[in-house]
Amino acid sequence: MTSTAAPSFAEIVQRARAENRLILTEEESKGILGANGVPVTETRVASSANEAVSIAESLGLPAVLKVSSTEITHKSDIGGVQLNLGSADEVRGAYDEIIAAAGKNAPGAAVQGVSVQPMAPPGGVEVIVGMTRDEQFGPVLMFGLGGIAVEVLQDVAFRITPLIPRDAREIVREIKGFKMLTGFRNLLPVNLDALEDLILKVSDFADKNPDLAEMDLNPVMAYSHGALAVDARIILTPAE
Ligand code: ADP
Ligand code: MG
Repeated sequence: MTSTAAPSFAEIVQRARAENRLILTEEESKGILGANGVPVTETRVASSANEAVSIAESLGLPAVLKVSSTEITHKSDIGGVQLNLGSADEVRGAYDEIIAAAGKNAPGAAVQGVSVQPMAPPGGVEVIVGMTRDEQFGPVLMFGLGGIAVEVLQDVAFRITPLIPRDAREIVREIKGFKMLTGFRNLLPVNLDALEDLILKVSDFADKNPDLAEMDLNPVMAYSHGALAVDARIILTPAE
């Protein structure tokens, strides 16, 4: 899902460190995860409304536009996310509105542009896959349901990396909301193998790379036919 010309993780780390920042952008984070086998929506940055339209059309409408800034990490909080844009005119309008919202709600934050990606198909359950680095245990993986389940109920499960397939099976079954993944109301049962595979890929990547302090794939859309990360953020460890 990412182009082969994408910079490597080492190159992106080097560039971020040279710029004195530890937070990678969504498109950098997804590019790296995609190169490591994690399914992500292809995401490219536009620096004009016309460029946003041509990227959206080449990736396929409907599109999602988001503010791209190394200083804004909660994009929807500042009006920086617009979903389900079905036409060139909607994409153009969203571009201008996002730039205006960033200027108004995050004054002073450097904005690199607006990222463009395809709208993920409907019918998914939003889940979160995260990683933090524990001083004693090293990388720790987190899994939970998205939205209020994680924020209010803190219904999450943890495993120390590296995870083996049995750990991945257990981590998804351990949360109280597991029933949401097995077919609930109008939702189809989630393909758990695909979700577990995504978790194992994130675990492997975390385990191999001491530059990673945190990863946040929030949300991952879990479907009956697979899983897809639509937002991702990587934070680097402070330089030695
Ligand atoms: P934030 O920085 O606020 O976390 P997100 O990129 O997670 O921004 O976008 C906010 C919400 O918009 C997500 O939780 C998800 O519900 C939805 N969303 C984001 N990207 C997509 C996409 N490509 N397809 C469908 N829905 C999306
Ligand atoms: Mg998010």
